[in-house]
Amino acid sequence: MRGVAVLGSTGSIGRSTLAVLRRQREHFRVVALTAGSNASLLESQRLEWNPDFAGLVGPGDASAPGGGPGVLIEAATHPAVDIVVNAVVGAAGLDATLAALRAGKRVALANKESLVMAGELVLEAAREGGGELVPVDSEHSAVLQCLAGHGGQLERLILTASGGPFREWPAERVQEATVEEALRHPTWSMGSKISVDSATLANKALEVIEAHFLYGLPYDRIEVVVHPQSIVHAFVEFGDGSVLAQLGFPTMELPILYALTHPVRLPDSGVPRFDPIAAGSLTFEPVRADLFRTFDLGVAAGRAGGTAPAVFNAANEAAVAAFLDRRIPFGRIADTIHAVLNAHTTQPATALAAVREADRWARARALEEMS
Ligand code: NDP
Ligand code: MG
Repeated sequence: MRGVAVLGSTGSIGRSTLAVLRRQREHFRVVALTAGSNASLLESQRLEWNPDFAGLVGPGDASAPGGGPGVLIEAATHPAVDIVVNAVVGAAGLDATLAALRAGKRVALANKESLVMAGELVLEAAREGGGELVPVDSEHSAVLQCLAGHGGQLERLILTASGGPFREWPAERVQEATVEEALRHPTWSMGSKISVDSATLANKALEVIEAHFLYGLPYDRIEVVVHPQSIVHAFVEFGDGSVLAQLGFPTMELPILYALTHPVRLPDSGVPRFDPIAAGSLTFEPVRADLFRTFDLGVAAGRAGGTAPAVFNAANEAAVAAFLDRRIPFGRIADTIHAVLNAHTTQPATALAAVREADRWARARALEEMS
């Protein structure tokens, strides 16, 4: 029986994780749960799972009794926890990723922002603490599944992207897209921040950076192709030219389960069974640079390295929050990130203080750009 902490249990990935664990009760015990602000859902989860620890981070007040950002660290390092599912959204997830890896836990990482902001520090924490990083992101899970037994010969990755709701829209119309239109994702049902990231393709840039750190590949060996059906999650090419892919109807429950059980598989009846005839034609097309400026900005930040990815991430978080608050139009998300990255002088990201300062600076700069 392995102990699991679910950070962000009230969100989309958190709730999917609990759905998986409900079917796998004989193998896992829920030891800790944390929520951001949804106290009532956390309470009903606490009644169902009876965890050793349940904590609400709350509205950023570290002195709140039983709350505050320390909640994430407490859950992530709880002695009875073997696996930390980090399903917090955004930069708020970084400290828990680092703490869990330093404490020797397996981190089932949905919070890709941790790795984007501080990839080198996250890998170092895993090395030093003996922790293990396993992706929840479906594309990266697909890569891990394809690599099983072939590790050393990885030549090239091709991550797929659905293309989001605006894939076929004229570029001018996308600039004025509404919040409702951006949240209407064609193939995946997700939290609002990642849904907007999927509409701008910022999400795919974050995933390219995530893949770079997870699989140690240079950026020119990580490619992205638009695949509107979201059936093929990634392609992996080996040194001999052979290509493997992992397929399935879109569901996060399979990659979540695999992150818990890797390198073995557990039987699970809850995942929709694949049917190639029902899946129909699988099509692939290039990323439209005119539509997805944010994607190019993010990949360029990844290539620049150092603090640039943290700056990209922070500017993106600030701009997406402003768009969701209806303070800026959709097209200003890319403009804002572009301006913030242009104003940034990249520093090495080998100390957490430098990453935090880059994150703070980029948010403040993004607010100036948007005012
Ligand atoms: P949601 O917005 O649905 O959930 C976010 C979770 O984080 C909620 O439990 C929320 O709590 C909690 N939270 C929010 N802010 C804070 C904070 N400051 N401190 C602590 N907890 C906080 O997002 P998703 O589940 O969609 O995504 C979570 C992560 O997983 C993201 O990094 C995303 O990129 C990644 N991911 C998501 C996928 C998906 O299909 N949804 C696929 C692949 C990756 P509350 O609701 O109580 O406020
Ligand atoms: Mg993904």
